[in-house]
Amino acid sequence: MTVIPPGSTIGIVGGGQLGRMLAMAAAQLGYKCHVFAPEEAPPAAEVSALFTRGDYADEAALRRFGGKVDVATFEFENIAAGPLAALTGQAPLYPPREALEIAQDRLSEKTFIQQQGGRPVAFADVDSEKALVAALAEIGTPAILKTRRFGYDGKGQVRIQSKAETGKAWKAVKGAPCVVEAMVDFDSEFSILLCRSSEGEVTIWDAPRNVHSRGILERSTVPADKALQPAIDKAEAIARRVAEALDYVGVLTLEFFAVGDEALFNEMAPRVHNSGHWTIEGAMTSQFENHIRAICGLPLGAVGLAAPRVEMRNLVGDEAEGWRDILADRTAHLHLYGKPEARPGRKMGHVTRLLGLRVG
Ligand code: AMP
Repeated sequence: MTVIPPGSTIGIVGGGQLGRMLAMAAAQLGYKCHVFAPEEAPPAAEVSALFTRGDYADEAALRRFGGKVDVATFEFENIAAGPLAALTGQAPLYPPREALEIAQDRLSEKTFIQQQGGRPVAFADVDSEKALVAALAEIGTPAILKTRRFGYDGKGQVRIQSKAETGKAWKAVKGAPCVVEAMVDFDSEFSILLCRSSEGEVTIWDAPRNVHSRGILERSTVPADKALQPAIDKAEAIARRVAEALDYVGVLTLEFFAVGDEALFNEMAPRVHNSGHWTIEGAMTSQFENHIRAICGLPLGAVGLAAPRVEMRNLVGDEAEGWRDILADRTAHLHLYGKPEARPGRKMGHVTRLLGLRVG
């Protein structure tokens, strides 16, 4: 891959906080960013040199956008095949299109992970109420019905406590193709954050232990408890295989449930991830910086911990209004995404604390 030198323009498809933090890391390295997103004033555009407002389904707009950037990446995954092809016809796209296409569909993602030797949660694909009834007879309840596409932060998911709820659950997904999964009684959740360069160099950050609340990440802590290490080792091996198989370039995230020493695969994201926000202050190089380095063909930075312990907490909905109290703690690193409206369940910011250091 040819090196994209500092001074070049990086295209980012998607305008949320992930794009915002990518653009900030890119600026530090002397790049300009051009954001493509449908919103009027997305968080990423505020910190980028250029912004094109356009629909993710608008092939012509994505083709024009591709013509204006030296390399493109994405922070938003639900881009259809046609518009994606229009973009890749104009500019190199990293991570590779294939990774995005696999991760867009929960069924292809689980099948792919199985091919790489990973173990997804017990699941079945369902496209009718009858198929759901049959799958539940196999998997049992409680279970979770998830739409194959367009789900995130617990959206597109219905929990099924007992078989009596089958009809109601099927109605809730409005006939969308789904997978149904067994509800896992996990010990912990954790994620593997990996970055692979165009030269095939791989860095893996310390795996954070993640706690979710109502389907949304609440906090990530590193290092994870020692008891999780056997499961983390297995998960890391899978993540490496996935990255190799896809000839991956950039940050790749895989989420797992730890059950004893086993790592059950939950889902993957071919991008920087919320459970890696702690790396901005908590690691020698952040996920955002290494992603930019990777997609521009630069060598990767070291990823060791910058403190004995690091904790990241999301600020969801009106929690961000407590910014004064958060800043009263001199060790808190506050990040606010500049979103105008604090809707319930909306990620407004996050706060990271480095623990075990002399405060000074
Ligand atoms: P997802 O968007 O699929 O990652 O789901 C969001 C969160 O819901 C996960 O991080 C878990 O906390 C919970 N969850 C999802 N699927 C399952 C499952 N099969 N068993 C138990 N908890 C789950």
